[in-house]
Amino acid sequence: MQVSKFGGASVKDANAVRNLVRIVEGLEKPLVVVISAMGKTTNAMEALVESYFSGNDAELKERFRNIIAYHEKIAKDLFGEVDIPELRPFYDCVESLSQRLEQQPSLHFDYEYDQIVSYGELFSTLLVNAYLKYSGIRTQWIDVRQILKTDDLYRNANVDWSLTNKLMAEAFTFEEVDVYVTQGFIGGTISNITTTLGREGSDYTAAIIGHVMDAERVTVWKDVPGVLNADPRIFPNAQKMDTLSYAETIELSYYGAQVIHPKTLKPLQNKQIPLYVKSFLNPDLPGTIIQQEGGNNNMPIYILRKNQVFLTLSPRDFSFITEGNLSEILAVFNEFHVRINLLQTSALNFTACVDNGRELMPLLEKLKEQLVVRYNDNVELLTIRHYTQSIIEEKLKGRTVIDSQITRINARFVIKTL
Ligand code: ADP
Ligand code: ASP
Ligand code: MG
Repeated sequence: MQVSKFGGASVKDANAVRNLVRIVEGLEKPLVVVISAMGKTTNAMEALVESYFSGNDAELKERFRNIIAYHEKIAKDLFGEVDIPELRPFYDCVESLSQRLEQQPSLHFDYEYDQIVSYGELFSTLLVNAYLKYSGIRTQWIDVRQILKTDDLYRNANVDWSLTNKLMAEAFTFEEVDVYVTQGFIGGTISNITTTLGREGSDYTAAIIGHVMDAERVTVWKDVPGVLNADPRIFPNAQKMDTLSYAETIELSYYGAQVIHPKTLKPLQNKQIPLYVKSFLNPDLPGTIIQQEGGNNNMPIYILRKNQVFLTLSPRDFSFITEGNLSEILAVFNEFHVRINLLQTSALNFTACVDNGRELMPLLEKLKEQLVVRYNDNVELLTIRHYTQSIIEEKLKGRTVIDSQITRINARFVIKTL
């Protein structure tokens, strides 16, 4: 069997959904199709959670209406009308979200987030499944929360592999079914409470299913021709890489290349399942193949992480940074779930580059209890893999470099945002 994952851009409107159906028609069966929320729905859902949690009722209603209207327009464009039995499951799901929003939220933000944001994937899969069926494909919709089991670390849940193995093997039998349609990004605890795997986690879902089901291949369909040597939105001359190794791709996504979720590669590498990154706009082109062996011939790769904060921490008593206080500092980052993208230490300072997210301020408050904290919040982190001196000079021309870290393969620079 194979797994194909379609991201938000590939289901952003009715034409995109029609294109998806054409691609699915042409794919080898049996097949599991994993789908993300439509277009930018997850961002809209996050805004909905903010209104819900802050108790702003008028804003909540307005945001809810906009999300439903967006999906309803796609349904109308696909089916011509919306009052049809095929769309019943979708409307039941809308009703269920509406009822949830009527209730008072608990005090647990991450829990409430998962319960609400997950509707994006439920809506998209219900609509796309209805349209695949309507187009004559033998599909079955699966609620992934019943078979992809996780712990209860909301917004960043960890997979329970042994339970997931068992439940997926029981669910994906392909009896009188050619294509299962299911949600990326979301899962469920053993008590059937909804969880999510972290933003952009649908690629990871495809890899989990591929691993568990011993898929021949996993394909992620994107709006780019494959994995490029830079983000094309920032570096317009970015070139496609035909092949990459798992190891190189893990490094790229770890440093922040947004094209693939960092957790995607390991489950595939462990079973030597190839990952294809292909364009849903040009499905016949070969894309990028990621497998054990595969190189990019040392083509330089550029990764820019925007919206970073550069922190400098120093002991209050001007003592040295030691292994003892290092481990305490790192424990605080871990406690607040703030990932360090670049870390350096000197005798007197600990410096780190981190994402500028909602966890940052509580983290800084905690660090200030023991340390002098200084920060610069208008920076970006540029990583150049397989660099040369002339490439570094070219890329840094006119930029203010705040810190750098050079190893044999990577040259990394904290630079001021222009
Ligand atoms: P999905 O639709 O699966 O969520 P994403 O939008 O998350 O896909 O990822 C695809 C986008 O990633 C592309 O549109 C591109 O702008 C961006 N991107 C960033 N870095 C790269 C890269 N190195 N190669 C290809 N695309 C990249
Ligand atoms: N819809 C989720 C997100 O936007 C998951 C994904 O698209 O991979 O983060
Ligand atoms: Mg995405």
